[in-house]
Amino acid sequence: MSINFSDETNGEIITTTASLPEDNSEGSLRPRSINEYIGQEKAKNNLSIFINAAKMRGEPLDHVLLHGPPGLGKTTLAAVIANEMGVNMRITSGPAIEKPGDLVAMLTNLNEGDILFVDEIHRLNRAYEEILYPAMEDYAIDIILGKGPSANSIHLDLPHFTLIGATTRSGQLTAPLRDRFGVSLRLELYSPEELTRIVVRSAGILNVEIDPEGAYEIASRSRGTPRIANRLLRRVRDYAQVRADGVITKPVADMALSSLEVDKMGLDALDRRMLRSIIQYYNGGPVGLETLAATINEEAVTLEDVYEPYLLQHGFLTRTPRGRCVTRKAYEHLGIEYMGQQQMDF
Ligand code: ADP
Repeated sequence: MSINFSDETNGEIITTTASLPEDNSEGSLRPRSINEYIGQEKAKNNLSIFINAAKMRGEPLDHVLLHGPPGLGKTTLAAVIANEMGVNMRITSGPAIEKPGDLVAMLTNLNEGDILFVDEIHRLNRAYEEILYPAMEDYAIDIILGKGPSANSIHLDLPHFTLIGATTRSGQLTAPLRDRFGVSLRLELYSPEELTRIVVRSAGILNVEIDPEGAYEIASRSRGTPRIANRLLRRVRDYAQVRADGVITKPVADMALSSLEVDKMGLDALDRRMLRSIIQYYNGGPVGLETLAATINEEAVTLEDVYEPYLLQHGFLTRTPRGRCVTRKAYEHLGIEYMGQQQMDF
């Protein structure tokens, strides 16, 4: 069953945390040093200590696992680590490793101290993970050549390297792989104040004139996510050029974002559709994730990884053992009368 609601966009969801083609100029906005990297103070403080200690010992950094929703700066932070350590970084991703040879080639091409960044590491084929265990632990791999009695095993020493794994779902990592990371850091959604600093910095790089209230307006409607903040900044800049005098002020940002259907709380059409269908079809919940996903014609993983973190953090949605429930705040935000708690029949 697919439901259409009046506020559905023409298929484009501007506030998706997934990378869109228009984000391909992201590179220029990426901070390069730990001082330029805004927010995530806890992760940064821990990392600074580990980086300094590793440098003092003259050793590579321990393997690092970065987890958190998409667009929060995992790839950026990995590049910052490489920069701070003064080493090169090679980038791959779990799904890009299609055969064991791909991984072996990556590992054997590393130089001493290099960083291997594996994005979406939870999607790495389980069978190939076993290559990583001795590589991470002993800096060596054993390759079996041939089959049956004539099979030969070759032992290859690897340079001392650092594996940085990024994942949106650390729960899906196998325990043996997770245990081999010495450092595990969780990135959190950013506060509007931190995102304001990111928007002001990006506006400076893009040569866009913006006032502090304009920056705050974009920041507070960006779902706590730098990737979205930068994307909205570019869209608002276009709007400011065409409809205003090129300067991003609060009213200009407000008009531009409203025309993109990003509301005052930063919710987009899909967020509203998700909340509204829980109310209309499941009396406010609880409803299981798969059922909900089928109802609104979306993938369950997309709802869970991309949409839920922000809705949960801002108290529009709760997770219960029996499924998702909307809160009174969601009713009020959507302008639907709240009939009390009777729908949450525990
Ligand atoms: P992830 O790997 O978690 O999906 P990225 O590292 O690709 O996210 O970050 C997306 C974009 O957001 C980057 O291009 C960068 O410009 C911006 N960004 C992320 N984190 C920060 C930060 N802490 N400070 C400034 N900009 C950031």
